[in-house]
Amino acid sequence: MKTIGMLGGMSWESTVSYYRAINQGVKAALGGLHSAKIILYSVDFQEIERLQHRGDWGATADILVRAARSVEQAGADGLIICTNTMHKVADRIEHALSIPLMHIADATARQLLADGVRRVGLLGTRFTMEQPFYRDRLRERYGIDVLVPEMDDRERVHQIIYTELCLGQIHEASRREYLRIIADLQRAGAEAVILGCTEIALLVQPEQTEVPLYDTTAIHAADAVNFLLAD
Ligand code: GLU
Repeated sequence: MKTIGMLGGMSWESTVSYYRAINQGVKAALGGLHSAKIILYSVDFQEIERLQHRGDWGATADILVRAARSVEQAGADGLIICTNTMHKVADRIEHALSIPLMHIADATARQLLADGVRRVGLLGTRFTMEQPFYRDRLRERYGIDVLVPEMDDRERVHQIIYTELCLGQIHEASRREYLRIIADLQRAGAEAVILGCTEIALLVQPEQTEVPLYDTTAIHAADAVNFLLAD
């Protein structure tokens, strides 16, 4: 088995989901007492969040590059960044390493294409929904059309992520809002909706919607398991 490096803590609520899913994947494949070889670097999210909202992405990249290098030095064979938003600085991290980085949008796009989905709704932080680093990657590399909610709804989705989900708070009223926004995306033509923030699956589950949901945490964790177990 290889060893996977994880940059986590963004937020730790979703890092827990990754940790569980990767270990469950290895156990399902190998049985017995097998578990995943993981080197986890978990950051202080308050620091990252403050820099994000100030627009100081360079400083966030500095923090994550240092973390990624120490994960590599500790013996990781590959790296995952356990958040969609921080893939905004994925290129800088990738260039600082000699081990491969498994990009969350690539793993998600491969799954969408395998299922024949070409037009997808995207929920995530405003950074992920509005900036090109994620949407353009899906469009340009994979030919997948991306729809996002209207401005007020994008703001609401963003607020719920930072003021509730990243703090481990799950509220029924917020679930109803997400379900309405997901239904609106479906009405606008989305064949599926990407849960493009690693905490959203804590709030919304596939059986609650008509349209298929693509949980980036589960997809990215499965990609990590494949990497761990590949020869
Ligand atoms: N975990 C979230 C994501 O997947 C948001 C937290 C962050 O800003 O990194 O985008």
